[in-house]
Amino acid sequence: MAIHNVPIPSRQLYIDGEWREPVKKKRIPIINPATEDIIGDFPAATAEDVDIAVEAARRALARDDWGSTTGEQRAKYLRAIAAKVLERKSELAILESLDCGKTLFESAADLDDVAACFEYYADLAEALDLKRKTPVDLHLDSFKSYVLREPLGVVGLITPWNYPLLMATWKVAPALAAGCAAILKPSELASITCLELGEICREVGLPPGALNILTGLGPEAGAPLSSHPHVDKISFTGSAATGAKVMTAAAQLVKPVTLELGGKSPIVVFDDIDNLDIAVEWTLFGCFANTGQVCTATSRLIIQESIASAFLDRLILWTKNIKISDPLEEDCKLGPIVSSAQYEKVMKFISNAKNEGATILYGGERPQHLKKGYYVQPTIITDVNTSMEIWKEEVFGPVLCVKTFKTEQEAIELANDTKYGLASAIMSKDAGRCERFTKVGVFLICCKQFFLINRHGITTRVNWILQAFQTGIIWINCSQPSFCQLPFGGKKRSGFGRDLGEMGLEKYLNIKQVTEYTCDDAWAFYKSPSKN
Ligand code: NAD
Repeated sequence: MAIHNVPIPSRQLYIDGEWREPVKKKRIPIINPATEDIIGDFPAATAEDVDIAVEAARRALARDDWGSTTGEQRAKYLRAIAAKVLERKSELAILESLDCGKTLFESAADLDDVAACFEYYADLAEALDLKRKTPVDLHLDSFKSYVLREPLGVVGLITPWNYPLLMATWKVAPALAAGCAAILKPSELASITCLELGEICREVGLPPGALNILTGLGPEAGAPLSSHPHVDKISFTGSAATGAKVMTAAAQLVKPVTLELGGKSPIVVFDDIDNLDIAVEWTLFGCFANTGQVCTATSRLIIQESIASAFLDRLILWTKNIKISDPLEEDCKLGPIVSSAQYEKVMKFISNAKNEGATILYGGERPQHLKKGYYVQPTIITDVNTSMEIWKEEVFGPVLCVKTFKTEQEAIELANDTKYGLASAIMSKDAGRCERFTKVGVFLICCKQFFLINRHGITTRVNWILQAFQTGIIWINCSQPSFCQLPFGGKKRSGFGRDLGEMGLEKYLNIKQVTEYTCDDAWAFYKSPSKN
């Protein structure tokens, strides 16, 4: 049985260092996806609250207690936040699981990552003091120049529900490290722990307005933030459809955006793997961790034909072993989908796949022992072709589709056969092959044909193809591990810009060049009137 005795805190919006009721006094119910019960509510911000928060953020930047801080001073706040997160780890983990259905084990791991991320950006904030002013040698006597790195200004941070506090942290920690003032808009499907971050910031004495947290609906709170004339940048993580709306709104003001969007990532398994079970487990983890609600989920298994049958047999055995239960139960490895709407969406993907002629090899139903909650069995789908929806679209649920290949060329073509470009994984013990899949290069091969006229006017048939994965993240002999030191993001329709790593900090900095004329002589471009 699920055991928890953590009360759901009743919070307001976190603006200017204090809790404020939303102007329209509206609240949104919190539904536990494991039981479908309403367990609390949270405030719904609208455009009026966005205006108030933006004002508070601008004031914070103008005040010495935030706007004139050194990186070293900001690092102290970040470290204090990390310590408080760890102090409240078990309570916050339960709140996260109740809110979004994440297994308690995964919620606790997320909180470790949250603390580590605040610590990492504390280090980078300290290092920023040394890089704040960098002289540039122009090899000229008449000019002296340097480059300044300064906070970009007020930044809007819009985040999804699948890793509620962790995705927020990937943006909040570097934005504060850079010295920006931030407005966080978490997902309406999981806001509890993000509001608790507000309480933590209050407790550690973060200066008012440095971080403001506006919960609420996307169109009511996220949209006015994206189009606000006094927000200098939007950093967005979410679906490609919403990302396009955010980018459109920001474009009207030529406001910079970074977009971390969805994916349909491949895991390519070659027959030279040493151990079937190890590859099977990574395949499972790559697609079913966090109930498949992971932007980088490797949800397309591309398996070499010679081992496909044995591999799928083992995959089913391992899948049957996954404990599906209330996420607070011990050893639960697969919790519910986050919401009723998302559950319906996942079920529709499965029925559409069936209708298009694919085979549901395993799963595809609600688990029989769970009568309530938005649960879906881990599902494996075969007999898939590349025109099917299940091959092309992001499901964001525990659904793996499978295709086989014979040759390396076929494998890379299938892997890159997607509009997305977030992540990809290769399982092979051939180091040369792993490198070919990693590095962009053009290789002569025999599956794509182009015709060139050579200098003698003779038509030559040449076969070229890009051999590497076209993604921002590549995993070799694993899938999904993520580290805050490494840049995270994609290409193609998975978005642009990077969270995490040093790039995750740079996106919150303005680079300012300063050039001084140091010569006593006149510039002498125009004729001086005194010489007439
Ligand atoms: P979503 O696009 O529905 O919502 C994301 C955020 O945008 C929420 O806070 C939402 O309230 C807000 N929003 C909605 N409409 C808006 C509007 N018109 N203007 C401004 N903001 C608006 O995405 P989701 O369902 O919360 O998250 C799932 C998606 O996120 C998946 O596609 C997943 O792949 C992606 N994701 C990407 C990454 C990454 O790093 N690339 C990480 C996690 C999730």
